[in-house]
Amino acid sequence: MEKHLVLVGGGHAHMVALENISRFVKKGYRVSVIGPSIYHYYSGMGPGMLGQTYSPEQIRFATKDVVEDQGGVC
Ligand SMILES: Cc1cc2nc3c(=O)[nH]c(=O)nc-3n(C[C@H](O)[C@H](O)[C@H](O)COP(=O)(O)OP(=O)(O)OC[C@H]3O[C@@H](n4cnc5c(N)ncnc54)[C@H](O)[C@@H]3O)c2cc1C
Repeated sequence: MEKHLVLVGGGHAHMVALENISRFVKKGYRVSVIGPSIYHYYSGMGPGMLGQTYSPEQIRFATKDVVEDQGGVC
């Protein structure tokens, strides 16, 4: 039976797994990442964005691209 790895949320707790999705895919896992946005916004830079030091585009991580470029589904 196919193994299916489902990550709920694409934040810090899943960063290492997100970076290594291609390794799971190569081993035959189906990988799905579930989240409310195609981006993850880095909370540590949130105050800098609210203070207008950074734009939203500067503090986000392209979750969907990272997942799909490695063969996962987002
Ligand atoms: C200003 C600030 C500074 C910080 N500085 C540090 C630091 O220097 N060192 C340190 O170790 N920690 C720091 N932290 C804490 C650190 O950012 C958090 O501990 C860490 O982000 C928690 O990781 P997480 O994966 O649990 O949550 P997050 O990184 O917040 O990720 C949660 C993910 O789940 C997604 N999500 C939310 N709701 C749902 C839903 N219903 N269904 C699916 N997905 C959902 C979100 O979109 C997000 O992608 C800081 C936090 C802040 C706010």
